[in-house]
Amino acid sequence: KVVVVGSFNVDHVWTTPALPRAGETLSGEYATGPGGKGFNQAVAARRAGADTAFVCALGDDLGGQLARSLAAADGIDLRDQRSVRPTGTAGIYVDGEGRNSIVIGAGANAELSEDFIQAQRDTLATAAVVLAQLESPPDAVLAAMRAARAGGAVALLNPAPANATVTAELKAAVDILTPNETEFAALLARHVGERVDGDAIAALDQARLHAFCRELAPEASVVVTLGASGCFVSHPAGALRGDESAYYRIPAEQVRAVDTTGAGDAFNGALAASLAEGGDAPFATRVRFATRYAALSTERHGAAAAMPRRSDLAERFGA
Ligand code: ADP
Repeated sequence: KVVVVGSFNVDHVWTTPALPRAGETLSGEYATGPGGKGFNQAVAARRAGADTAFVCALGDDLGGQLARSLAAADGIDLRDQRSVRPTGTAGIYVDGEGRNSIVIGAGANAELSEDFIQAQRDTLATAAVVLAQLESPPDAVLAAMRAARAGGAVALLNPAPANATVTAELKAAVDILTPNETEFAALLARHVGERVDGDAIAALDQARLHAFCRELAPEASVVVTLGASGCFVSHPAGALRGDESAYYRIPAEQVRAVDTTGAGDAFNGALAASLAEGGDAPFATRVRFATRYAALSTERHGAAAAMPRRSDLAERFGA
């Protein structure tokens, strides 16, 4: 089972020819639907085949009702803390090339409490993987990661968004970190004292990337997602069957991306689902599954709504 601890937002999405600049007024196609990294990842984990619970905070409003009905429709076990603040919202612009700009109103997500996480002890105890992001308060995220470890589950942290802080304490509590390029650059600046531009990460020498990862999170596996360039994986000594630390690159699948919003969420949810399956498939096989899943999610518009089902994956990639 996968337990996702994180955010739910009502997304408002405008598709425009170009992203708006300061002072500019554009018109675009509008759509609304569910989002939030937590919910997106929970939907991805569920549709990728895992029994999934989603722990979040919701307002007593239409957004909260939307979360409840959508979780039910996807068969997600929703554990929601009720907040007096409005359900989270996000304003998203997507341009003709699938690039995006996003503004988030955290609302109820900012209220998710350590106490509520503790109260979900029984749910967390049944997890094989606990997956969290940083759109929730740091105390709640830390409590979730610690509960994972305490229950023998894999503590998987997607350190997103990039402007959120990862404390040394939190870093030490996770088994797997999955930053994208921007988030990885932010982590390197904060914890390793290296200034590398996010756009330059994919072109870095792999041995150098590995050294950065080992210094950043000595005990954790790090999966740096690189958009259309796939991802880079770095394991500490002892994580794989051998005793040596290891690194490798997994290329992205060739697809016709129309909207990469939520590609990282698709990747994380699918990786969690694959890890939760157990068995003795190597880590790289699970990352490849997540890579295919994420690629397919970029061929459709939207975030949670665009998450493929396992059958779509089988149809497309034959696995
Ligand atoms: P985020 O959405 O957090 O910025 P990335 O852009 O790194 O995350 O995407 C996560 C994963 O999704 C990548 O590692 C890759 O496997 C897949 N992906 C993203 N963009 C594309 C694309 N244009 N084509 C194929 N796969 C993609």
